[in-house]
Amino acid sequence: MSVFDHSEFDNHEHVAFYHDEAAGLSAIIAVHNTNLGPALGGCRMWPYVNSAEALTDVLRLSKGMTYKSAMANLKLGGGKSVIIGDPRKVKTPEMMTAMGKFVDSLGGKYFTAEDSGISVTDLKTMAQESDYIAGTKAHYHYAGETADGNPAPSTAYGVFVGVKASVEHALKSDLNGVRVAIQGMGHVGYRLAEHLHNAGAKLFVTDIYPEGVDRAVKELGATAVAPEEIYGLDVDVVAPCAMGASINDETLSTLKAKVIAGAANNQLAREEIGDVLQERGIVYAPDYVINAGGVIDIYHQRMESSSNEALRDHLEQIGDTLKEIFERADAEGRATNRVANVIAEERFKNKG
Ligand code: NAD
Repeated sequence: MSVFDHSEFDNHEHVAFYHDEAAGLSAIIAVHNTNLGPALGGCRMWPYVNSAEALTDVLRLSKGMTYKSAMANLKLGGGKSVIIGDPRKVKTPEMMTAMGKFVDSLGGKYFTAEDSGISVTDLKTMAQESDYIAGTKAHYHYAGETADGNPAPSTAYGVFVGVKASVEHALKSDLNGVRVAIQGMGHVGYRLAEHLHNAGAKLFVTDIYPEGVDRAVKELGATAVAPEEIYGLDVDVVAPCAMGASINDETLSTLKAKVIAGAANNQLAREEIGDVLQERGIVYAPDYVINAGGVIDIYHQRMESSSNEALRDHLEQIGDTLKEIFERADAEGRATNRVANVIAEERFKNKG
């Protein structure tokens, strides 16, 4: 298994491998770049088929965090950790304790947080071994409600701000009467639907499970749509809030919306899809810019002193950042995802 010449290596600063036989832990921490500050990125536990697959995933994800934090105006770098194993079958408190020791061994260069397969309970176990565990404390809520540690409310508010900025740019309008199709009525998608409804948007929603859809129909006057129909609807905006790669050759062939702006990670099946969107005049809000509310939330919860208002102001900067990207993309005739990457690199390569 190669590391320095791995296709995803991309000048990572630090890649650490850890094995604790007694605890049954095999894990990797990747720190991509710390020019702007210590690396932050979640810990993912996944039944990788082998360590090569785990390495590819952790390198790709940690690089993505460098770009996300730079674009979210955070004094943070990018990192990620992965634990090899099925969380439903082999996860134990002893394993989480060992993971806490592993994170601690990097001396604060890397902070971990929640990701797939890792719960707040797991993080609290890790936190007994290390101060570098984020996502275990909750003090602030952007709207002054009780904070429970779930970053989804901040993510959803950031996405809402981003949808508003995207619509203003593409349609020169506010959200009143704008037709929005949302894929995924989960933690973020449902909350986004509430914000959009309150702003006067007309909603079309889908999910593979009925609960969130039924609730949106009943409480937000949304129209329920079959999952396979959501991207071909005659709407102004589509908001991917389910899984990755949902903007692909198939969905592009039926897409009518003028704006794509949602919470899901890795929305474009390939970077080149962004070029097609630009050629077709579709405004795409780069996923890691519009969905940065979660990482902004974690940052504020860990600050010595912040406030609900400071968190809210920071989330609202997502709209300004998107406007900067859209204007530069128009001026340069380039895709928004490519412009976002360039701006992020300008920020972290020049230390802000
Ligand atoms: P979630 O699991 O609560 O919700 C996702 C929803 O999508 C679920 O209800 C699921 O049933 C539905 N879904 C899955 N496949 C679908 C399909 N083919 N068609 C329609 N619906 C489908 O997750 P979430 O926390 O709401 O996150 C949504 C997306 O946003 C994910 O891609 C996540 O990685 C990303 N994201 C979330 C956060 C956060 O703070 N939660 C932060 C950044 C990015």
